[in-house]
Amino acid sequence: MEKDRVKKFRIKRWDPERASKPRWEEFTVSLDPFERLLDGLIRIKDNLDGSLTFRSSCAHGMCGSCAMKINGKNALACQTLAKNTPEVVVLEPLPAFPVIKDLVVDMDPFFEKIGRIMPWLLEDGPPPERERTQSPEEMKKILDAIKCIMCGCCTSACPVYRAGKDLYLGPASLVKAARFIFDSRDAGWEERLEMVSGKNGIWRCHSIYNCYEVCPRSIDVTGIISRLKRMSVKKMLLPPRRPG
Ligand code: SF4
Repeated sequence: MEKDRVKKFRIKRWDPERASKPRWEEFTVSLDPFERLLDGLIRIKDNLDGSLTFRSSCAHGMCGSCAMKINGKNALACQTLAKNTPEVVVLEPLPAFPVIKDLVVDMDPFFEKIGRIMPWLLEDGPPPERERTQSPEEMKKILDAIKCIMCGCCTSACPVYRAGKDLYLGPASLVKAARFIFDSRDAGWEERLEMVSGKNGIWRCHSIYNCYEVCPRSIDVTGIISRLKRMSVKKMLLPPRRPG
């Protein structure tokens, strides 16, 4: 192995069905500077330890399945280049979600909360003959939120979510709600806004910005939640129409 390409992967491993607590294991692999950490994980699994467990699918930052904690910060293994990491790469499962095995966490609680905000277009009449159109200005309002790949990095990094994960909807659910609330074609914005304005929604957010800092899609998560807060206040004060 060429010395400058050698990386030590320090991985937190745990099979809760077989062990009472996690353990750390180290693997040494060779990575080119422009290879991703996901390449290193695949190399470890193929050549060193086939029992190492992690998720991956698209490997191009579009599916979100290889989200994990990388050197202390949630990120996608497929988006993290070897040249941007230290000699020792520390990998842990996403915090705040139950560990299934090694770097794989149970995302059911995360998707259950996203399901609560009804992540589909709500209609108030028969479908139109042609598609539902939007002006470029209307589309701009949802452009940031529609980039979300539901990787869970933001929700997992949120200390408010971690403190009361059974309660707070979490940043990813709020981004998904905003994606529809700001959508000019959605007839359910009032119902959705009311839901996210409740005690487990936007007002639990303390604008800590962890969500914004870890988002692999560079979505202004905290800004979107602030827009929802402003909209919620305006709706209380103004006549019933979709506030801007
Ligand atoms: Fe992932 Fe960003 Fe979507 Fe949060 S907002 S789930 S960090 S893509």
